[in-house]
Amino acid sequence: MSSCAFCGSRDKKITREHVFPKAIGLSMDDSHADKWVERSPKRFVGGEIVIKDVCEDCNSGPLSELDAYAKEIYDSYLYQKVNQDDQITFSYYFDQLSRWLLKICFNSARVNNADTTILSEFIPYILNGEEVENEFLIYVHLIRPKEFSTEEIRAFDLDVSEKKEYPEGWRLSQFRLQGFHEISFVQRFVFINSFCFSVLAFPKNISNESLDKIKIKFEEEYEHSICLNESDGKVTIKTGQIDAFDAFFPHMNMNPEFYSDEYLGDFHNLVHKYDTGLIVIVIERKEVEAGDISRISSMFSNIFISKKTILRCKQSIDLIFDGYDDDERGLFLIPEARKFVQDLHSEFPYWFYILNPELPFFKILPYMLYEIEHVEDVVKISDDNLSLFIQEGFDKLNEFCYNNCLSEETIYEISMEIDKSINGG
Ligand SMILES: [Zn+2]
Repeated sequence: MSSCAFCGSRDKKITREHVFPKAIGLSMDDSHADKWVERSPKRFVGGEIVIKDVCEDCNSGPLSELDAYAKEIYDSYLYQKVNQDDQITFSYYFDQLSRWLLKICFNSARVNNADTTILSEFIPYILNGEEVENEFLIYVHLIRPKEFSTEEIRAFDLDVSEKKEYPEGWRLSQFRLQGFHEISFVQRFVFINSFCFSVLAFPKNISNESLDKIKIKFEEEYEHSICLNESDGKVTIKTGQIDAFDAFFPHMNMNPEFYSDEYLGDFHNLVHKYDTGLIVIVIERKEVEAGDISRISSMFSNIFISKKTILRCKQSIDLIFDGYDDDERGLFLIPEARKFVQDLHSEFPYWFYILNPELPFFKILPYMLYEIEHVEDVVKISDDNLSLFIQEGFDKLNEFCYNNCLSEETIYEISMEIDKSINGG
């Protein structure tokens, strides 16, 4: 029998737990997209995301008590339609609210195996309100309705009666504060109608200095957000600059294929042609000789076109140089090939994320990027340069994953493969 994600028990009956409590009766936010794009999202499942790794005792005990509290604040506050410049006086029990928010973040994290490591450290707090070493912050702000301008009504071909669009339903999404890629911490928004709760949850070992910097950055970026105090209380929440469209936009931007059948480019089609397997990019000799990286570099920039493309490219690319088969020199001894790779590197240094580390291009990459020396007929690079290659590679991997909302778990998985390739482990 599998074990319960919360209490770890192996001998209890496992039941289904809804990521978002069914009792609230709110479907996942799928009502909006078709107001802004012609076709409605194709892959949303309305509010029915369930996980099957919670035991009966946890589910019907502490977790359902938290859901009951959520229902209470839903019925008192969260159901409301909020207009611009509205203010809401919001009373809350800090522990119950934050335990509930952390619970739904942990539930959704397990669906995608993202942030489960940090969030699982909060289990004693979520289940029983026991103190844990990890710090966390909860903010709340209101999303104002989107008011469409005449141009937008024309551009989106809207019914004129729909001049104003309120945020509706619930949605969980990751966000990223810029500049913190060296720290793994949870950054999630929980949208419920016009309310947006921000959950920041930190690993045990985070320094006070980093915590302060993150707090300052968040409050700068979301200046209308109110930090909820650890004592129960009452706060006045206001709307800020973010409207229903802005709140939805990052999801649309990262998942364009959910919203539109529009042509997303050759690279997108190439990577989605086969769901798995290697993507081989062939570089022509004439491009190398002309020093023209534009075609390859535009392919690389297309990786960012959607989350799906990003995930598809994870350690699954190999680069092949065509037209050099008869050349006796190794590729890393051909000056124009070296220059070509170095130029690509200065535009796109995220090799550890995209390359399959077991394949030839990854193996020769340090020799292409760094100075090589000949030791008794063998071509080598210095240990110092190899360390630099590894250090930069991992730093760029962290940056790439952080900026694209890929979790600590993904970075770990990739790092193990890189380590195996470099150290033969
Ligand atoms: Zn349990």
